[in-house]
Amino acid sequence: MARNRTSDAEASTVEGADNEDTDAARSPQKLWTALRRIFRLSRPYRLRLLAALFLLSVGSLVALVVPLGLRELLNAVFEEANRSMLDRLTLGLVVLFLIQAAVSFSGNYLLEWTGERVVSDLRQRIYRHLHRLTLRFFSDHRTGDLTSRLTNDVGSVRSAVTQALADLLTQSLSLVGSVALMVVLNWRLSLIIFLVVPVVTIIAIYFGRKIRSLSRNIQDRLADTTAIAEEALSAIRLVKSFARSGYEVERYNDAVEELFEESRVRVLVSATFSSLVGLLFFSALTAIFWYGGTEVLAGRLTTGDLVAFIFYAFNIARSVGGMSRLYSTFNSAAGATERLFGLLDTDPEIQDAPDAKPLTDLRGDIAFDHVTFAYEQEPVLKDLTLEVEAGETVAFVGPSGAGKSTAISLIPRFYDPQDGRVLIDGHDLRTVTVQSVRSQVAAVSQDVQLFNTTIAENIRYGRLEATDAEVERAARAANAHDFIAALPDGYDAEVGERGVKLSGGQRQRIAIARALLRDAKILLLDEATSSLDSASEALVQEALERLMEGRTTLIIAHRLSTVQDADRILVFDDGRIVQRGTHDELFARDGLYRDLAALQFRDGNREEAVESLRDPR
Ligand code: ATP
Repeated sequence: MARNRTSDAEASTVEGADNEDTDAARSPQKLWTALRRIFRLSRPYRLRLLAALFLLSVGSLVALVVPLGLRELLNAVFEEANRSMLDRLTLGLVVLFLIQAAVSFSGNYLLEWTGERVVSDLRQRIYRHLHRLTLRFFSDHRTGDLTSRLTNDVGSVRSAVTQALADLLTQSLSLVGSVALMVVLNWRLSLIIFLVVPVVTIIAIYFGRKIRSLSRNIQDRLADTTAIAEEALSAIRLVKSFARSGYEVERYNDAVEELFEESRVRVLVSATFSSLVGLLFFSALTAIFWYGGTEVLAGRLTTGDLVAFIFYAFNIARSVGGMSRLYSTFNSAAGATERLFGLLDTDPEIQDAPDAKPLTDLRGDIAFDHVTFAYEQEPVLKDLTLEVEAGETVAFVGPSGAGKSTAISLIPRFYDPQDGRVLIDGHDLRTVTVQSVRSQVAAVSQDVQLFNTTIAENIRYGRLEATDAEVERAARAANAHDFIAALPDGYDAEVGERGVKLSGGQRQRIAIARALLRDAKILLLDEATSSLDSASEALVQEALERLMEGRTTLIIAHRLSTVQDADRILVFDDGRIVQRGTHDELFARDGLYRDLAALQFRDGNREEAVESLRDPR
């Protein structure tokens, strides 16, 4: 029991510190606001929650009666030597234990049910909300932070709704009840407890702070070691090719040693704390036995009274330990709530207007009408006007950073322009539903993103209800069927994380099959063939041509050889279109296009040409 007390107290501070992560202590008002928001989440389940709290309170009250029963039982043996009383009291105690088991089972079940339900609701709500947020939000936040909110922060909220709330109620009942009953049993003996509890509380506060700050340092060090390992392991090819394994291992070892040192200090402090509390506890217990024994000898106390008294002392110790944990649990839950609601309070920048209509029977005309757009302050697109007719293939070329990808990203309405309009079939994108536009746009880019599942599932992402035959037809059209069929598992082959088990050209063709299956009217190709060797490129190019048939296609390409056949070429420079025309027209004129083309076609050195495109003049 005493061991429990010390480890409880120690765990309370240490655990509190771990939960607390880097949350600073909050002002009572902020804490209250956050807690109110947490408890509002459990409002739909408030009847269950209230029932749980009621049952747990009954459990606490029953636990308070148990020592009194024991007292009577011992008195029946030692004072009165009454056999039938002993039997009746034993039976009474068994009934009490049964009641306690039943209420604590149902109370805990209801409580945990509520906690899990609130957490599940919150996770679903946050994840749904994340999917409504815009790309700008995701460029400003690290994915790791967002996923950690879904796991750790939601977990903190759960512990506040369940354990902390229940502890607050049951431990305070137990504390107040035990103190009162103890005083009634023998107030002089109670003084020993009243002297020890404040001393333990002061020690717990002092050590608690120290351990919390050490724990924060440990978490920082731990994050450092993880970051070092993650970085090196994800760039393992680079590390090996530069023969830097030794260097990386040393870097990691240094970080681990620092972590060890911080952990050693924390172990030292928490071991000192446990021993001190243990010492105080056993001293107090010995004092109670000594003084209680004296009182028993003097006939002022019965053996039963002394045993009951010691039970209440244990109760008090447990309640004080439990309650000291509460502040840090609530504080860390408040921090988590602030972050979670910060996320939920972020309004999606792009939303359907209240009177937005779905865009049906789309033809595929695209127009930019004096569009100006900036990610931050500096405009990236400046007064851009262009028109693309349904079924046309238009290429965007120009130096890196000229705004080509940005212009493309306005079409599925990833962003809204600050000025001007983007139109599809003559409708301003802000007047139609986002879903109806995006369902008619398919994109293939250089950086193909695949899910860690089978090839078939990756292709089917284009149209979830597609049959196996349709998936295969798309793969054939994308020149992907032959290599897929040659794999041992065929369409069921797993592609690995981000598709690592496939070559660049194979990934591209899967992406093309996916876009084919989508059968969208508008096709956006961003550097779709730039990283391929000539053989793969020919296969991909052929697949792309099949994909482009009958669709409005916008192509971004640095390699001008891939866009020569486009109906029209728009040359971008610094957020503006500086030239328009076919390859032949543009090549015949002086200007940026001819400069770019001259560089690329001069000696066929692609690397050099791409490099020079970054700074064409
Ligand atoms: P590249 O040919 O290299 O892909 P690009 O012509 O497609 O270049 P964009 O990617 O449209 O050029 O970028 C235009 C400008 O916008 C660049 O200066 C870039 O730094 C900036 N930019 C692009 N994306 C973002 C973003 N998410 N947030 C802030 N600035 C951005």
